[in-house]
Amino acid sequence: MLQGKLGIIFGVANHRSIAWAIAQALARNGMRLAFTYQGERLKENVETLAATLQGSLVLPCDVTRDDEVRQVFEAVDKEFGGLDCLVHAVAFAKKEDLDGEFVKTSREGFRLALDVSSYSLVAMAQGAAPLMAKRGGGSIIALSYLGGVRVVPNYNVMGVAKAALEMSIRYLASDLGPQGIRVNGISAGPIKTLAAKGISGFSTILDHVAQKAPLRRNTDIEEVGDTALFLASPLSRGVTANVIYVDSGYQVMGM
Ligand code: NAP
Repeated sequence: MLQGKLGIIFGVANHRSIAWAIAQALARNGMRLAFTYQGERLKENVETLAATLQGSLVLPCDVTRDDEVRQVFEAVDKEFGGLDCLVHAVAFAKKEDLDGEFVKTSREGFRLALDVSSYSLVAMAQGAAPLMAKRGGGSIIALSYLGGVRVVPNYNVMGVAKAALEMSIRYLASDLGPQGIRVNGISAGPIKTLAAKGISGFSTILDHVAQKAPLRRNTDIEEVGDTALFLASPLSRGVTANVIYVDSGYQVMGM
């Protein structure tokens, strides 16, 4: 379905990352991929995973650094000559801001969470749009969570960052649509990953969703990968400015 297509994925930390499940779904269907990693700590992990996919490219990028974001797209342009898909699966907040009351969030904690988790999508879209325009359009996909539209205990400032991310998806979709670039989000149910470990009481959220969601189970990471495959493929050509829930239906429950 994606033979000859070119993509970039931000946010693989290890084999449990949602970004890695998405990478596998896209690569299985023929997409050639570039990956970014933040800092030397994750370099080896990402290189080892990327080496299992033919022709992949691995580049450093701290998404809070404009120069690093620019260099990533320059390198992708040089190597790939264009881009069809971008996956944003990056988020960060200070540990102390993911526990207890939102009201105690510091100015710096708020700034950091929104810089890494929300503004980064805008910076990436700036870099990706010219490369996608060369290919006649493209698909940008960002990962969100229900905590961006409802209050989820301890999710706090990350919920505010996801709200900004989801609204950025809509504004970007409006700006980039004339170039054939679609921008969508996937709001995934809770999944045990490195980032999720930082949220206080995360296992309680998992148990609650498994009991209450219409499908009575948690989200399988491969379900998120398959939805990303749909959003990256021509099957979703009429879909933009949307956030698709892949959460066993949990978002409709009132109690
Ligand atoms: P993950 O494997 O820990 O991935 C998060 C990634 O963000 C990591 O690779 C992390 O690198 C990266 N990152 C953080 N700060 C960065 C920076 N300044 N520059 C570049 N990269 C940075 O966790 P995940 O759960 O798969 O998260 C992927 C996305 O899915 C996130 O947007 C998350 O909010 C979203 N999501 C997760 C869930 C869930 O339950 N797990 C549910 C819905 C949505 P470091 O390890 O170096 O920080």
